[in-house]
Amino acid sequence: MNKLTVNDIELNLTTNPKEKTPDDKLGFGQIFTDHMFVMDWDTKRSWHNPKIVPYGPLAISPALNTLHYGQSIFEGMKAYIANGEPVLFRPEENFKRLNNSADRIALPKLDEEFALTALKKLLQIDKEWIPKSEGTSLYIRPLMFGAEEALGVHPNNKVKFIIMLSPSGSYFKSGLQPNKIFVENEYVRAVRGGFGFAKTAGNYAGSLKGQAKAQKLGYSQSLWLDGVEQKYIEEGGAMNIFFKIDGKFITPELNGSILPGITRDSVIKLLRSLGETVEERKLALTEVYEAYDNGKLEEVFLSGTAAVIAPVGELFDGTKKLEITTEAGEWTTKVYEQLTGIQLGKVEDTFGWVT
Ligand code: PMP
Repeated sequence: MNKLTVNDIELNLTTNPKEKTPDDKLGFGQIFTDHMFVMDWDTKRSWHNPKIVPYGPLAISPALNTLHYGQSIFEGMKAYIANGEPVLFRPEENFKRLNNSADRIALPKLDEEFALTALKKLLQIDKEWIPKSEGTSLYIRPLMFGAEEALGVHPNNKVKFIIMLSPSGSYFKSGLQPNKIFVENEYVRAVRGGFGFAKTAGNYAGSLKGQAKAQKLGYSQSLWLDGVEQKYIEEGGAMNIFFKIDGKFITPELNGSILPGITRDSVIKLLRSLGETVEERKLALTEVYEAYDNGKLEEVFLSGTAAVIAPVGELFDGTKKLEITTEAGEWTTKVYEQLTGIQLGKVEDTFGWVT
């Protein structure tokens, strides 16, 4: 099979560019740029027909297998303007993770290098859409799904890969606001042997009822516990979670049911480079309760592309309430400032994370 290159991408650009929304009116995921990248796969031709076309609806069959069986995976990453230039943060990690997700639900793998080339080409075309105000970014959503019109349950013979772009507003409207998290001890997000480590549509569908329950009780997200004993902490909403207990950082180890966050990995590397101890291990909820009761629970924060870092102010399981903080702690703020500083070219990128 021939390797696809940038010259293989067919360009069909819009003659009718859309009006851009002012940065202060941007929310999340509702506005899309002028163009999208689309590429097809089938069992005979592998990946083919890469093109950049005006962003718009797809014509799909009601028998599209993805609608029935959820063969859909995605990624989430951001482009920023740093020192006047568009930049990406560790994008190759997102395409690597997309391929790990593809493998788990029997979708074909992409050429990661070509996917990044295609993304860069798309960004070049739509670069005026990258918002410039503080805290804003261009959210990038790569998506792959089974595109076969067939009701039989089987690995797909036809697949589509799309990259869409969505200018997004600042996650925090006024500083790093602590989140209140509800410990979910009824539903689980992922199970051993399942696909929690993959960014598949089904994981998100399965989390919505718990999230709605948390929100009804006045909490912003759910703290997910392991799917076997509901004893160990896994993630907070759609983010990874860090605890600072007695001077050390602890984050749940990657066990197959936790999504390996790229921000999580960056936080671990950053903290270790600053001489801090980070333990990746099983962390029981009871250990956190004990630390809290002994005055040793110092900080809790979430990590993920959307917010980068979000402080946790409160944990509540329906009975026991941990009132951790009303403002972002020292290390929560430091990690947030270092990571966003690297992304925006204000802190030296000694890790080589920015492209
Ligand atoms: N966990 C889940 C379930 C997520 O959806 C995300 C967002 N991708 C994360 C963790 C954080 O991952 P990342 O740091 O790569 O954004």
